[in-house]
Amino acid sequence: MATSGSIGASQANRLSDVPTKPLVEIGLITAGTLDRVDRNSVDLAVEQFDAFVRDRFPSFRWKVLQTRRPESVVEKRTAPSVLLQQAMEERDENRWDFAFVVTAAELESHYSNHCFAALSRPLDAAVFSLSLIDPLATGQSTNDDTRIKSVAHRLSRLMLHALGHLLGLGSHDSPANLLHHPAVASELDGMAELTPDQISRQRESLFEIADQRLEEQTSRNLSVFGFVVRSAWINRRSIAAAMIAAKPWNFPRRLSGLTLASLSTLAILLMTAETWDLAISQSATRLVGLFWASLIATIAYVIIRQRLLSRRRRRSEQSVVTSSAAIGIVLLGMAITWCCLFVIAITIANLFFNDGLIASWAAASSLDPANVDSHHRVKMATFTASIGLMIGALGASFESQNYFRHVIFVDEEI
Ligand SMILES: [Zn+2]
Repeated sequence: MATSGSIGASQANRLSDVPTKPLVEIGLITAGTLDRVDRNSVDLAVEQFDAFVRDRFPSFRWKVLQTRRPESVVEKRTAPSVLLQQAMEERDENRWDFAFVVTAAELESHYSNHCFAALSRPLDAAVFSLSLIDPLATGQSTNDDTRIKSVAHRLSRLMLHALGHLLGLGSHDSPANLLHHPAVASELDGMAELTPDQISRQRESLFEIADQRLEEQTSRNLSVFGFVVRSAWINRRSIAAAMIAAKPWNFPRRLSGLTLASLSTLAILLMTAETWDLAISQSATRLVGLFWASLIATIAYVIIRQRLLSRRRRRSEQSVVTSSAAIGIVLLGMAITWCCLFVIAITIANLFFNDGLIASWAAASSLDPANVDSHHRVKMATFTASIGLMIGALGASFESQNYFRHVIFVDEEI
């Protein structure tokens, strides 16, 4: 069951919208069922959000469209990555610029103690939970009207915070700024303003987003490949920004299954004489080939196994951006993991393996200990890091799909 309708500013405001103003459409999906207080809070929050963006960004037409998905959340706790994925699919289907999901369920958090909201730049989506911003959650007993006002105000702050990040803003230290990071729900109450610089940067990003989408311009003359390449090129900056926002340098720490499997493989290979023999007898070209093969095989395996790409067939610039960002994030994460493995292997090789030992272990290469130098250790480190990464990818399949998607797609838990 889905109902939709436009919510927002007064009729007068609507009439004054000139058709030449670029349109920004945000889809708001209510996931699961809401009680009366929550329903009223969401409606009031949307009004406050709408009034704020119309006031600060009057050069755009704003549309917030509400949809209900009562079946999508049935439990008290839910994984943000699942809701973000649904949001992305609906965003794609309806050609919204952004998709917001509101749920009464608590969100599973992986990076912090609590999670009021989680947002994803690659998916252009954010999910908000009403459970922890309700005054009842902190034991305050208030009447329904006060609760509605409080939850609505806090939710609208979270929505404006998420919009700021989705439009490329970083966080801000001042507790009165909308991009401040609240430690407790009550800190949301004081978050009210944006600096002139934040407003102008958001306006710039909005102009880029509201630009006519590529598929509506020239796509009819392009092949699928041409369309993908062109979309990726036009959106190269937002793809790069989404890749950085995912902080791929945290992968080795966050994906512990992958890291542990890689490290165990590395340790076993380094302790095996035959591996030294095999690695040292390889040419440099072959080892470079092995590095690329391990990187490509790992990325392909992880993307397919964890179903990171949308299965939709319809051409859209947004889905090219999402898929390119997902591939780019995994590529960066795996390349960084490979570098860590390489550094560990080369350090161990230098610390514990003297020239004489390497010459005797690499028996088939009939090396003279006097000829053993750093390039033999580099060969061994390249070999073991590449094999370690591939085995590590198999270890990644022990991570739950929701957690893996969380690491790839969720930039921030607020
Ligand atoms: Zn933030």
